[in-house]
Amino acid sequence: MLKLAHYINGHLVAPLSGQYLDNVDPSTGQVYSLVPDGDARDVDAAVDAAEKAFPGWSKTPAEARSAHLMKIADGIERRLEELARAECVDNGKPLAMARSLDIPRAVKNFRFFATAILHARSETHVTDGLALNYTLRQPRGICGLISPWNLPLYLLSWKIAPAIATGNTAVAKPSEVTPMTAYMLSEICIEAGLPPGVLNVVHGLGAKVGAAITAHPKITTVSFTGGTVTGREVARTAAPMFKKIALELGGKNPNIVFADADMDKAVSESVRAAFANQGQICLCGSRVFVERQAYDTFVDRFVAVAGKLRLGDPLEAGVDQGAIVSKAQFDKVNYYANLAREEGGKILIGGAPAPAVNERCRGGYFFPPTVITGLGPQCRVNQEEIFGPVVSIIPFYDEAEVIGYANDTAYGLSATLWTQNLQRAHRVAERVNSGTVWVNCWLLRDLRVPFGGMKQSGVGREGGDEALRFFTEPKNVCVAI
Ligand code: NDP
Repeated sequence: MLKLAHYINGHLVAPLSGQYLDNVDPSTGQVYSLVPDGDARDVDAAVDAAEKAFPGWSKTPAEARSAHLMKIADGIERRLEELARAECVDNGKPLAMARSLDIPRAVKNFRFFATAILHARSETHVTDGLALNYTLRQPRGICGLISPWNLPLYLLSWKIAPAIATGNTAVAKPSEVTPMTAYMLSEICIEAGLPPGVLNVVHGLGAKVGAAITAHPKITTVSFTGGTVTGREVARTAAPMFKKIALELGGKNPNIVFADADMDKAVSESVRAAFANQGQICLCGSRVFVERQAYDTFVDRFVAVAGKLRLGDPLEAGVDQGAIVSKAQFDKVNYYANLAREEGGKILIGGAPAPAVNERCRGGYFFPPTVITGLGPQCRVNQEEIFGPVVSIIPFYDEAEVIGYANDTAYGLSATLWTQNLQRAHRVAERVNSGTVWVNCWLLRDLRVPFGGMKQSGVGREGGDEALRFFTEPKNVCVAI
């Protein structure tokens, strides 16, 4: 069976413990490869390599760093089909999605930051004829980069690219649930000639490898994407060590449909926003609020479209919904479907594990799109992040009421509005407490814009200039004139 390896100091290496964890294909429930069960010793080795690489890499001209990132992007693009298959098998998502979204976005992440550093500017301030201040933005040292399983290469490369583009070195940890594409990225970095130690990838459990990265005294900067509970743990360790941290955490995003919306678009995009990647995108709209006069029609149309989504073997063409990423996540989704019943919800479609989609996938973790009505905004199903194909539809009467509902959770990651009234769109967007508000669209991403969450959805921002700032230290030089 294929044994994955850490990527440390430019080499693919076995874990020092000699131990491995099972890597399961969620569409079959079968172990298909082994992932290093890394620990603090592997993290120490990776930090040593990153420390040795830092002086050279941080002094490498931007143009040369950019060229290295471009080569990595080219390498990903060359192996796009192979990476998409790997991501599909690791994660359970439809191959078509990995091919069209996840892997192309990893290419874009590297190209975006490779070119951004060539255009970076820094500030100058002239002080009343007395002094000239200029800001040096310098790399911070060794960065710890920790990412989740839902968009594995996409999210990991969204951290790696800005971290190393700005002259830092890095120790990255993918989720142990979906390690394959990070392993392949390691191979690509070797092929691309990235200097040893600039990027290191340590595989293993969050409680061991993730915790060791967060706590390592030589890691100055931690960029974490994952659940809010884990994020709190990361902050608890990193904050007293005065590390710079960015936390991209969970969401319970409102999707608000006003009666004047373009209903064809609102219905089809709300279904996509609810169920893309089996509902396992932090930006999914899992709470759909619909203005009362449009509610009945919207629910009927939403159910009709969602009911047509084809659940099946993720490797097959034409499949819209693949497997849930793991048994644990599958059990969680099932738990919340049952909770919805207990809380008095009406399940219009889905609500229970799907029968086997084919012979190959007999042991897989398949859960159909599930639509619930009849639950109030305060019940647990509408307050807690499920992170699966479960959506609840709730009526509202006016703007103030729905803004109250939208804001009444611990989260504030994203919100979506559907309306043709321009004034209302701006008014509501301004009052909804979330890091991103989409108006008449969903998941339309421009890599330059700030990205992140409010409240318990996170601290700090990624994206464009925000990422370049996060991974650098601004130093003011004041020169008397
Ligand atoms: P987790 O928080 O469980 O894990 C995220 C990463 O942290 C994994 O690599 C995990 O390793 C690691 N980890 C676990 N424990 C620790 C620890 N004590 N110290 C350091 N690292 C640790 O999240 P999931 O992987 O389950 O991902 C789903 C969550 O991610 C959802 O809440 C979702 O909303 C959120 N998310 C947020 C996004 C955003 O941009 N705001 C984007 C995508 C997802 P291991 O897998 O081995 O446990």
